[in-house]
Amino acid sequence: MKLSALLLFCAASVAQELNTRTLVFETESSQNYVTLEPLKPLSLSSFTLCLRVATELPQQQREIILFAYRTQYYDELNLWRELDGRISMYLSGNGVFFTVPALGPMETHLCITWDSQSGATSVFVDGKKSLAKIYGKNHTVRSGGTVLIGQDPDEYLGNFDAGQSFVGEISDINLWSYVVPRSVIKQIANGDMSQSGDVIDWKEVKMQITGDVKLTTTNV
Ligand code: CA
Ligand code: CA
Repeated sequence: MKLSALLLFCAASVAQELNTRTLVFETESSQNYVTLEPLKPLSLSSFTLCLRVATELPQQQREIILFAYRTQYYDELNLWRELDGRISMYLSGNGVFFTVPALGPMETHLCITWDSQSGATSVFVDGKKSLAKIYGKNHTVRSGGTVLIGQDPDEYLGNFDAGQSFVGEISDINLWSYVVPRSVIKQIANGDMSQSGDVIDWKEVKMQITGDVKLTTTNV
């Protein structure tokens, strides 16, 4: 291959990698949501969940669902921004709460890591790690459910509440079945490294949109 052709080829593959899909939820509703099809069942004794999020919903107005994984009777793995701005996670029971820099209209890279054996749970905001909390020790996330973005189901699969819906932009949703090292999370957050989840791979994930959710392609 000639050098010029090689350069063109490299430029093309870089350009391809730099495109990312973004979900845009413009309005508050109890009808708009997106289901994601994971690569394998969510039978998890540890995980890392990352996403990029931006919202103009002010704090102290209401809570916002960021990620929901629901089986028949349980919210198996739900990530929230609480009314007071804290980030919380619920693994089919009481939640764990983190006081972190506020999400807002500028994009934030948000991750949460959890390990059943130790119960160690940490949040990462733009690559910076929170303190660890002990939560859900010896628990296992069960398979057989559905991953939803935009709504919090209170039954399988519905009973959505507009007052908890997501409004804003969300992208780069990746889920790993293990705790990703903090150095890697930092590089992903900074855009220095691209790594896909082995359970949800944002680059490839099949999604089904219900209602008014826009899918845009952003060149990063
Ligand atoms: Ca609800
Ligand atoms: Ca729920």
